[in-house]
Amino acid sequence: MDAAPVLAPELACQIVRWRREFHRRPEVGWTEFWTTARLAELLGAMGLSPRLGAEMLDKDSRMGLPPEAALSQAMAEAVRPLGDLPGARPDLLSRMDGATGLCVDLAPDKAPGVVLRCDIDALPVRESQASSHRPAREGFRSLREGAMHACGHDGHMAMALGAVRLVLDQLSQGRARLSRNVRLLFQPAEEGVRGAMPLVPLVSGWPYFLAGHIGLACPETGSFAAGVTGAFATAKFNVAFQGREAHAAQAPEEGADALKGACEAVLAIHALPRHSRGEGRVCVGRLEGGSGRNVVPGFARFEAEVRGRPQEVCDFLFERAKAAVEGIALANGLGVSFELAGQAGAAESDGALAARLARIAQGLSQDGRPLFSRVLEQARISVSEDACTLMREVQQGGGQASYMLFGSDLAAGHHAPDFDFDEAVLAKGALMLACAVLDLAGPGDFRL
Ligand SMILES: [Zn+2]
Ligand SMILES: [Zn+2]
Repeated sequence: MDAAPVLAPELACQIVRWRREFHRRPEVGWTEFWTTARLAELLGAMGLSPRLGAEMLDKDSRMGLPPEAALSQAMAEAVRPLGDLPGARPDLLSRMDGATGLCVDLAPDKAPGVVLRCDIDALPVRESQASSHRPAREGFRSLREGAMHACGHDGHMAMALGAVRLVLDQLSQGRARLSRNVRLLFQPAEEGVRGAMPLVPLVSGWPYFLAGHIGLACPETGSFAAGVTGAFATAKFNVAFQGREAHAAQAPEEGADALKGACEAVLAIHALPRHSRGEGRVCVGRLEGGSGRNVVPGFARFEAEVRGRPQEVCDFLFERAKAAVEGIALANGLGVSFELAGQAGAAESDGALAARLARIAQGLSQDGRPLFSRVLEQARISVSEDACTLMREVQQGGGQASYMLFGSDLAAGHHAPDFDFDEAVLAKGALMLACAVLDLAGPGDFRL
C-alpha cells in the first residue's frame, strides 16, 4: 500500500445509510433472502460478480435449518416491497436456489490471499419502540416485527461494503495493488453457530482469514482489539424422546413417559462432571412435552448446548451429554433422536497476525487524529463464534487467522431489544478492514 486511504465523508454517510437499510429489513438465520439479494445488487453495482446461495455452498451441509414452510414464506416475502424498500430481484432469488449468503472475489485470477468474513443474520427479537431507542426515534426501526438486527450484523455488512468500496477506489486510482485475491464471505446463520460449516471449502488453503465484531469485549467507541482469545467451542443439539401415551391412573404401566425421560436427561446434563483442563458451560434452554394432565406423556423434546475452552472440554461434554440421553432413553423404554443443530470450534487469533493488524490500526488517522484511541493486540471474550470454525480450518492449513473487535459505545447489551451501537464505529471499521486486506494481499513480503 502506497499511502493509507482516507475515508471521504460521503462514503462515511453512505455506510451509515447501508447500515440503516439493513437494520430496517432484518432476516433470521438461513432466511436472509432479501439481504443476500441486496448485497448482490450493491456489489454488482461496484462491478463485482458475487456467487449467491447454492452457487457457493452445499445446501445439504446447512445445520439448524428452519422448517421448509418458513423458508418458502421468507422467499415469498423477500420479493415483496416493504415500506419504501423494494423487494429482492427475482433473478437473484432464483440464483440462490433456496440458500442464502454470498461470496465475492476482488481479484479472482490471483492466488488466494485473504478472506474477510462478515455475518448477515438477525435475531428473533422484537425491537424496542421506546423513544430512548435511537432506531425507533430516528425512523429506522425494524419493519419486520419479531426480527431485529440486535447483534450489530447490519453494521458488519455496512462496514464490509464500505471496505470493498475503499479497496476498489484505491485500486482504480492506482494507489494500491493486489498481488493476491481478496475474498469477501457474507455468511448466513451465525447466530446459533450454524452457518460457517458449509463455508469451510471457501476458506480452505487460504493464507489469511479475518473476521470481527462490533462491541463485545470492546464496549467503547475508539477502542480496537486486533485479536481475541478465549472463544468457547460449542455444540448445540435438539433431543426428542418418543414414548407411549396411556391413562395416568387406570394403566400407567402401559405408557412410556417421554417427559420424565426428558427431565432426567436435563438433570443429567446439568450434572456432567467438570474437566481439569479447562472451563465448561451447559444450558438446556427449552423443554416441552406431553399432551394433558392425566395422560402419560408420549413425547418430549428439549434444546440444549454445551461449551468448552479448549476444544477438548466441549467435545467431552458433548459426548457425555449424548451418552446420558441414550442411557436414559434405554432405561425408560423410549425412542430417542439426537440432532446436531449447530457447532463451532474454539480458536485463538494468531499472535503474529494480531500484532501486524495492531500496527496497522495504530498507524491510521482521520482528520489529523488517531483513528483509534486505544489499540489492544488481544482481548478476551467469553462467547462462542461461528467464525472459529473457519479460523481453525485456515490455521490447520498453515494459514493465520484473526478475529477483531471494533469498539463502540453500546445502548444495551447484544441481543437485547434496545441494543444499538455508535455509528461512528462504521467508518473506522471500514477503513481498518480496507487497510488490513490491502496490506495482507498487497505486493509486500508474502509469508506463505
Ligand atoms: Zn449475536
Ligand atoms: Zn454477532
